[in-house]
Amino acid sequence: MNARVLIDGPSELVFDYAIPCGLDVRPGCRVRVPLRRKSAVGTVLSLVEAEQADFALRELESLVEPEPLITPVLLQTGRWIADYYGCGIETVIRSLLPEAVRTEENSAKSRRIAVMDAVPEAEVMERLAKRAPRQHAVLSLLMHAPERRMAVADLGEGVAATLKSMEKAGWLRIETEEVRRDPEADGIEEVLESLPLELNPEQRRALDGIVSAIGAAEPRPILLLGVTGSGKTEVYLQAARHVLDLGKTVLVLVPEISLTPQTVRRFKARFASMQDQVAVLHSNLSQGERFDEWHRIRRGLARIVIGARSAVFAPLPDLGLILVDEEHENTYKQESVPRYQGRDVAVLRAAFEKCAIVLGSATPSLESWQNTQSGKYDLLRLDQRADGQAMPLVRVVDMRLEASKHKGGPAVLSDRLRTALEQRLEKGEQSILFLNRRGFARSLQCPKCGHVCQCPHCSVALTYHRTDERLVCHVCGHQAIVPRKCPECRDPAIILQGYGTQKVEEILAKVLPQAKVARIDADAMRRKHALRDTLNAFKARKIQILIGTQMIAKGLHFPNVTLVGILNADLGLHVPDFRAGERTFQLITQVAGRAGRGELEGEVIVQTFTPHSPSIQYARRHDFDGFSEQEMEFRRQFGFPPYGHCAVLTARSNHERRAEFTLQTLHLRLAEDLPAGITLGEVLPSPLIRSHGQFRFQITLRSVKARPLSRHVQAVLARTTLPEDVTVVFDMDALNFS
Ligand code: ADP
Ligand code: ZN
Repeated sequence: MNARVLIDGPSELVFDYAIPCGLDVRPGCRVRVPLRRKSAVGTVLSLVEAEQADFALRELESLVEPEPLITPVLLQTGRWIADYYGCGIETVIRSLLPEAVRTEENSAKSRRIAVMDAVPEAEVMERLAKRAPRQHAVLSLLMHAPERRMAVADLGEGVAATLKSMEKAGWLRIETEEVRRDPEADGIEEVLESLPLELNPEQRRALDGIVSAIGAAEPRPILLLGVTGSGKTEVYLQAARHVLDLGKTVLVLVPEISLTPQTVRRFKARFASMQDQVAVLHSNLSQGERFDEWHRIRRGLARIVIGARSAVFAPLPDLGLILVDEEHENTYKQESVPRYQGRDVAVLRAAFEKCAIVLGSATPSLESWQNTQSGKYDLLRLDQRADGQAMPLVRVVDMRLEASKHKGGPAVLSDRLRTALEQRLEKGEQSILFLNRRGFARSLQCPKCGHVCQCPHCSVALTYHRTDERLVCHVCGHQAIVPRKCPECRDPAIILQGYGTQKVEEILAKVLPQAKVARIDADAMRRKHALRDTLNAFKARKIQILIGTQMIAKGLHFPNVTLVGILNADLGLHVPDFRAGERTFQLITQVAGRAGRGELEGEVIVQTFTPHSPSIQYARRHDFDGFSEQEMEFRRQFGFPPYGHCAVLTARSNHERRAEFTLQTLHLRLAEDLPAGITLGEVLPSPLIRSHGQFRFQITLRSVKARPLSRHVQAVLARTTLPEDVTVVFDMDALNFS
């Protein structure tokens, strides 16, 4: 057998090497190999059958570590990702073995420790005090140190020679000890242990369901559908405890560490007594910390790992349970190569590990929902709030009526919302104002009647292209001219809409000058710890009204918040994306769920131009079942996911024509022997046609089955030589169509 080795470094070199006798080389091993006239380090991808012609093959030199660094299951997961998402195994290995882990300079730090095994007798000490005062000083320090151990560095400078003679004389021993670079070492906050709560009957049933999956030989994935505030986190915590008690490990995935501080804190608090076994994989770990955490996890020292998407590759041994919190969140999808969906990879890894997995959400993705309907996943539900509180009352305000009251620009605060804010200020309660911002929204909407120009074939909003004054459907290619008047109400004011959080802040300063207001958006949060500080100030009630974007939609829990205002609920509805309705439903439900989480009842005010849109109406009633039923029908009609798969092929270049031409060439070749069941869309400018100075064009492909699509595109790409200045990207199960 030969070893196929991926050489470390940016150039993705893969070579075969012969394996010298007696060397236990396995896939996933790190090896040292000859490369030209030097030696290099790499990772064994696989073992391949030796062929006759291989006689000249060079032998690999040695194993860097005796055991494979990548476990067989993770390697298997990596192969699946490469095949399914159509990317090279090389790029996947880079995710499995982060750079910090591959770089030898990051390897563990060690320090020398002086250890005293037995305390010398008093007369010995007396004698030493006179004859060898330095030795005496060292011994007295050690005698009183905890466990009679001290770091050599702490014993003072220039003690090396003294220690050496003392070691010889048998007074002490010198050991080396590995030092962990502890990311929590600067002790940001003290965590008090939280005790398990008495579960309500619904939670009990959910926990029982999860526990029986944990005990099963080949458990099925579980979708935990629990309304906001139903106590999902408490169920996660008790399930995790159960797994740890079995001696196994737990992986917790959250949408983004910095945006879910409360969830992370609750895990830390519950497992405070085993704090050093909890690893939180922040994106801001130093290389050294990352290296140490990774190895701590691999050795089974950290038994609970909490992290975002890429933590799905954390090398936990004996995995007993994976929890994916807020499983519907887009952040689980990686938007650079390898473009995997972290949630789906987690499900796959769980299957390979034969461990239990729970996907939790108040608003599950329709993909996961469909899997409960087809019987692939089990469904567990929490339909009530845990503390017996009612779901917040949601009122919908029709902004078309407000528009007539405000001359000039679009109304930002309705009268109803302003009055509600005033009431909260008087009562000393807090409010959250949420502003929907999807990177950009280039649809046309009439401010008088709320009409949005839609594709007659696809039911998605048409995208406005300023350069040639066209409206284009980014699913099927349908084109229309830009209307001069609203097609619905004949008003000439049809416009591109939008305003930002700053504008909202300005308006509040005018109409409620007495209110203490803070803003959470990407701009305001640039300063380090800004998010944490603002959330803490809000918790301490130093802020009365919090304005925020998508950043505040996730898992925040503030008992004194009794009012949530959603300023422009529609904005997300009119993006050129068949998931627009689903996203809007999720967002409104999640944001509304921030209200009334304490003793006091909550109220939510939703401002919209399209009050009758199903996403808004079902969210108003907290009705996931109703929403999913009608949305699934729409998806079925048009063959959108979860009925089939949708992928996007994008070409980008500084040269507009070359990007377009390249994609047209690919289109021709894709069409040539198109496998049955695949629908090939037209070459179209991307909604975001120019980004980072590059022109972008795209093709949307749809297919009932994923593999034939992915493989067909791969095959065509493999036999097409692309111009140097054009980049082509394939995104399987794409979530982002801009
Ligand atoms: P979710 O994650 O489903 O939104 P949380 O886990 O945040 O819900 O729970 C909402 C609130 O209910 C929290 O304050 C939590 O402490 C409380 N809670 C959860 N379970 C119980 C229970 N069994 N009894 C009392 N309070 C509970
Ligand atoms: Zn269309």
